[in-house]
Amino acid sequence: MKRVFNFGAGPAMLPLAVMEKAQAEFLNYQNMGASIIEISHRSKEFDEVINSCDALITELAGVPSNYKILYVHGGAQMQFSAIPLNIINRNPSKKASFSLTGTWAEKASKEAGRYGNPINISSSADKNFNYIPAYDADALDPESSYLHIVSNNTLFGTRWHDFPDTGDIPLVADMTSEFMSRKIDISKFGIVFAGLQKNLGPAGLAVVIIREDLLDHALPETPNLLNYQTYAKEHSLANTNNTFAIYMMSLVMQWLKDQGGVEKMEGINNAKAKILYDAIDSSEFYLGAAHPDHRSIMNVTFNLANNDLLPAFLSQAESQGLYALKGHRVVGGARASIYNAMPVAGCQALADFMKNFEKNNA
Ligand SMILES: *Cc1c(COP(=O)(O)O)cnc(C)c1O
Repeated sequence: MKRVFNFGAGPAMLPLAVMEKAQAEFLNYQNMGASIIEISHRSKEFDEVINSCDALITELAGVPSNYKILYVHGGAQMQFSAIPLNIINRNPSKKASFSLTGTWAEKASKEAGRYGNPINISSSADKNFNYIPAYDADALDPESSYLHIVSNNTLFGTRWHDFPDTGDIPLVADMTSEFMSRKIDISKFGIVFAGLQKNLGPAGLAVVIIREDLLDHALPETPNLLNYQTYAKEHSLANTNNTFAIYMMSLVMQWLKDQGGVEKMEGINNAKAKILYDAIDSSEFYLGAAHPDHRSIMNVTFNLANNDLLPAFLSQAESQGLYALKGHRVVGGARASIYNAMPVAGCQALADFMKNFEKNNA
């Protein structure tokens, strides 16, 4: 079996060691004669899994003691509904502010409009989201129940390097495509959330880290299973949760710890991204899509100066085991998603391919 280097944006590559461990114990979890996905979410064995996942997230991300870790159904986009349902009511005006740095921020803002009054305080739509607009504290309506940002913009390859200081207004961050890839001070945020399928595990579930004082504001019509208070009170087991996804996440977290933790991983991620950005910047054949000052280290977006060569670039890459490099349709070009599980060797192989492709086609 030859595994490819999978540059897909998500569901994305998971660490091989994690997949092998899951495979090895899939039929017979801890000698129970049953799989982890066949046993009760209320069994003591699963309880150990979810407790260990909590403990590893707390340790690796540095989650302060006044925050709760929730495993919430529906992936990242379901939180675009859950967040306004839970906290847009903090202020009676039901206003919430958004910085539009891409498609995911636009979708979140639009969804908040079902439950309250979103205000878009900044946008980089004028340049097809290739940069992060400067944060202007004066533009933030003081009646905002929160400010929503997307910390890493998966489609466009930009990220917030530093985060705005919003004072008493909770900062909410969609970290789906970068959670656990760099050191972040959770205490600066009211809510941090991430769908699992980019950097943490399988699709369909989101991890939500929420400051406890935000648990008490849900609109009365909030569905029980979108109410974060329900998850906090019942340890995310008010109903049968996605036990497999939580189990997989616990393995990914253990793997991350074994690699040396988030800070160590951030160093590796910086080195991986540099390999690709150097390949782009050292050539006129390739053009970086994101403004150099706002580049993501998780999603590297670029175009070929001659766009006619893109289909050949993608198909030759794929034939060499460099899989899923096609850019998102709203950006075009190519995108290399290089989450924690992508080894340095994958980035090196791509950079080498890029040089060869240029030599053969320039
Ligand atoms: C992938 C992604 C989403 C969507 O995730 P789903 O789990 O499919 O809803 C939302 N936000 C960001 C930043 C993403 O990268």
